[in-house]
Amino acid sequence: MSAAAPAPAPLDGEHQGAAAHSRWSLPLGRIAGIEVRVHASFSVLVALVLLTSGQVEGGAPAALLWLALIFACVLLHELAHCAVARRRGVAVSEILLLPIGGLSRMERLPEVARDEFAIAVVGPLSSFGLALLAGLAAVSRGDELLPPTLVVGAMPTRLFWFNLLLGAFNLLPAFPLDGGRVLRALLETRLDLEQATHQAARLGRLVAVLLVVVGVLVNLWLILIGVFVYLGAAAEEAATVLHVRLAGRRVADLMHPAPPQLAGTALDPREEWWIEADDPVNEEVLERLGHAPRHAMLAVREGRVIGVVSRGDLQHLLDQPPERETASTHAPLPPPPPPPTTSRQIWRHRHGR
Ligand SMILES: [Zn+2]
Repeated sequence: MSAAAPAPAPLDGEHQGAAAHSRWSLPLGRIAGIEVRVHASFSVLVALVLLTSGQVEGGAPAALLWLALIFACVLLHELAHCAVARRRGVAVSEILLLPIGGLSRMERLPEVARDEFAIAVVGPLSSFGLALLAGLAAVSRGDELLPPTLVVGAMPTRLFWFNLLLGAFNLLPAFPLDGGRVLRALLETRLDLEQATHQAARLGRLVAVLLVVVGVLVNLWLILIGVFVYLGAAAEEAATVLHVRLAGRRVADLMHPAPPQLAGTALDPREEWWIEADDPVNEEVLERLGHAPRHAMLAVREGRVIGVVSRGDLQHLLDQPPERETASTHAPLPPPPPPPTTSRQIWRHRHGR
């Protein structure tokens, strides 16, 4: 698997900074400056493999070797995403290995849809490349590639089928899988980012439900992946809407006027929960609002209190349809300066492919 890490739900008060690591994960090492971490739930997979290794030829050592090999393939798939992302100017903070696959966390959304397309599509292509190499190795050894197998048989044959499945699965048009990102990038040729994200997420949820249904009938693993895709699609959709709606916004655009007894007064130096009214509304502001008492902060200009900004103000903005969002009910201030750039360029969250 690949694709984007589920982004935090907006305004949930659990926002993490860009440098934060995934919770419940341990570092494995660094590759080309990218921290590779393994999720704690991985231990469940190792235990499962060891418990069932009695049924596998070669026992526990062979089962663990196979597990290491398939996650090396997953890691190569993720590194392909990371290499293209870096070449296109998107920093990668970490690769997280989960029992159901890998996740590469990027600092922001690629600047243009073309970049997102390239970063997404290279993962499945690299898996198909590995499948080709494994297939050639199998054929050169005189091994049969059929019937398909992941559990028994020679390693090259198993690696051929594993990488073929990994590439094909990730091409499912289910946002936030690679195929869903490819689809969103293609939709953006005729829709804006927010509309394209909604459509890709809708299809992603549909595919997720189908995966769960098929999983009930065929393989329980598919249920887990279906749930992951469903939650991932919803979270990415929410994060995209948040960032599109906040693009170019300042605190002053969201706040409501300070109560009369506070308006115009000098900021109390002991006051901790305040913010510059002309600061952009970014992830840091969301995080501070999440922690502030009553989820509200004083908005200050030139050392004087001019307003109060709350999570309710943010929610109000997010709840408005995009075409009406400029008709704010409380905006006694001059209009904001034009956004410096596109909403994609100011995307600042720690998630990505
Ligand atoms: Zn991928």
